[in-house]
Amino acid sequence: MQRTIIVVGGGPAGLSFARSLAGSPHRVVLIEPQPRQVLASPAPDGREIALTQRSRAILAKMEVWQHLPANEIHLLREARVLNGSSPFAMQIGPEQGDALGYLVSNHLIRSALFAAVEAQPNIDLLCGRRVVEPVAGETGVSVRLDDGSELAGDLLVAADSRFSQIRHALGIDAAVTRFGHTMLVCRIRHTVPHRHTSTEWFDHGRTVALLPLSEGCSGLVVTLPDDEANAICALEDKALQHRLAGMLDGRWGEIELITRPHAYPLAMTFAERFSGPRCALVGDTALGMHPVTAHGFNFGLLGAWRLGQLVGPAADPGATHWLTRYARQHRLATLPLYEATRQLVKLYSDDRLIARPIRAGVLRLGALPPIRRIMGRLLSEARSA
Ligand SMILES: Cc1cc2nc3c(=O)[nH]c(=O)nc-3n(C[C@H](O)[C@H](O)[C@H](O)COP(=O)(O)OP(=O)(O)OC[C@H]3O[C@@H](n4cnc5c(N)ncnc54)[C@H](O)[C@@H]3O)c2cc1C
Repeated sequence: MQRTIIVVGGGPAGLSFARSLAGSPHRVVLIEPQPRQVLASPAPDGREIALTQRSRAILAKMEVWQHLPANEIHLLREARVLNGSSPFAMQIGPEQGDALGYLVSNHLIRSALFAAVEAQPNIDLLCGRRVVEPVAGETGVSVRLDDGSELAGDLLVAADSRFSQIRHALGIDAAVTRFGHTMLVCRIRHTVPHRHTSTEWFDHGRTVALLPLSEGCSGLVVTLPDDEANAICALEDKALQHRLAGMLDGRWGEIELITRPHAYPLAMTFAERFSGPRCALVGDTALGMHPVTAHGFNFGLLGAWRLGQLVGPAADPGATHWLTRYARQHRLATLPLYEATRQLVKLYSDDRLIARPIRAGVLRLGALPPIRRIMGRLLSEARSA
């Protein structure tokens, strides 16, 4: 019997989940407020997404990787982490193979996922519509949309972002950590080559990261207290370039801004449970990572894929045992890095004098071979899906 799976949200996680149901006999209804043409060709949003080897493998299985423009997939060979003015750098390489992962712009991932989902025979896309009231119970689910229409189904999957209203309406709470910091992201040209190595530099009062893209071009990521970030965004082009160049301390030679910054206020969220009766949470709705360890989408994709593998072929996709299995597996897979990231961000945003030697010590500890190996494995995640 054909069942109906309702997906709320057509961001990267909702689309990944819908795509993981490509071969499923069930009908998939995806509801997203943005218009179809925006989903088909989203505008660049400044995010350069670091994809792990495992994410590449999942996207290839979904037949999405093959549709990303080859010249827009940038190799991420290794990562280095610096602290303040210390010349010491912790270097993290892949556990296997020649790369930690790849950098691909978020809008390209979104459009490739959308094209694949749109072509699926079992999909109904309701674009330009918002879910205003979800109900999930033991016998079925239903959603009311903003045009007053209603839909019924057998499973409801919420993928409506980290401050999810659907999660709240389903009675699922989430722990929220706010940092009072905003991340600015833009593209720059620079004269010192990046050698396909990303750099994360915990400087005093700010964090700077450089993500290697094409030759002489990188994504620049600067994290600052909210008010300082807002003031920088208000600068006109020349003053902006001068201000950002000053933060790089000449490490990357002469720089030139290619795009103006996009601003993202930072918060981490973790839902108290990832499933309930006939409902499940995926992507940032389950857990919202801090971008510093580059895992929000990687985890969202992994969870979406695993949930799809469980419920796609099931006679009843809303049966409790599939949803609790997904929730348990995904919690176990994500909680250690979530918590490590939260503590790392707290430590490196702490500018009191007492925190500085601890920060330097943590970096040197992290440089010990066994810890470096664990981090390399965690960041590249070469294990199969
Ligand atoms: C600066 C930055 C850099 C990042 N870098 C990385 C990285 O390198 N690697 C990595 O893995 N991750 C990274 N991330 C994280 C990644 O971008 C997110 O984890 C990912 O976009 C979350 O996708 P999502 O689909 O869960 O949520 P969203 O992208 O927030 O999508 C939610 C969707 O739900 C829709 N929606 C909302 N309400 C409703 C409703 N009521 N009804 C229907 N639809 C609704 C919205 O319109 C939206 O389309 C980064 C994030 C930032 C901010």
